[in-house]
Amino acid sequence: MVSSQAIDLVKEELPVEQDSLVLSGDVKTGLVIVDVVNGFCTVGAGHLAPTAPDKQISGMVDETLRLAKVFCDNKWPVFAFLDSHHPDVPEPPYPPHCIAGTDESKLVPALEWLEHEPNVTLRCKDCIDGFLGSIEKDGSNVFVDWVKTNQIKVILVVGICTDICVLDFVCSALSARNRGFLSPLEDVVVYSGACATFDLPPDVAKIIEATPHPQDLMHHVGLYMAKGRGAKVVSEVSF
Ligand SMILES: [Zn+2]
Repeated sequence: MVSSQAIDLVKEELPVEQDSLVLSGDVKTGLVIVDVVNGFCTVGAGHLAPTAPDKQISGMVDETLRLAKVFCDNKWPVFAFLDSHHPDVPEPPYPPHCIAGTDESKLVPALEWLEHEPNVTLRCKDCIDGFLGSIEKDGSNVFVDWVKTNQIKVILVVGICTDICVLDFVCSALSARNRGFLSPLEDVVVYSGACATFDLPPDVAKIIEATPHPQDLMHHVGLYMAKGRGAKVVSEVSF
């Protein structure tokens, strides 16, 4: 465990002010769901899945489901990344995970219904950064096309991991926006309550000789980094 005092100190030194977001449908908003797949979220579903029920991850899934329902009821655009790797192509530094064609690279059971919704675009990606993972062989970008086709002004980003796939995607989207590649996109919003990261406490990491990754701390750091790059971070989303 990392002591709560240590976490409080970091949060004090690196504060992340969070707003609330009210979605009325007036501003064209798209929901981007990052990797809410079994391989990262379902207990025992592979090398990078939680080994025991995880409050932050299950809270993330519940909130993602709540948002997805409203977006689909209103036929608002949803873009869902699915981490998905060819079995012969490793992704260092990670062990094999989310192998294409297995349940690991499928949406978690609570979100499986999204596969059949007409307003949902699914994108299998074989790298950390979904923006890069959206590039096709011909150089086109499925995510960029989705923003432009739907004339999206705000993307609301949720998923896992806050400090890895969510963060990298957010950073690339912000750079692309700043370069004018994502017009008419104006804002990239990260919803903290619908993001999560994995937990590898220092004491456990020491035993298995891995780099520690304390969950609460790294979730916070992910939000801090996203905000520093220009994302808006919100702790509440209402309709
Ligand atoms: Zn991966």
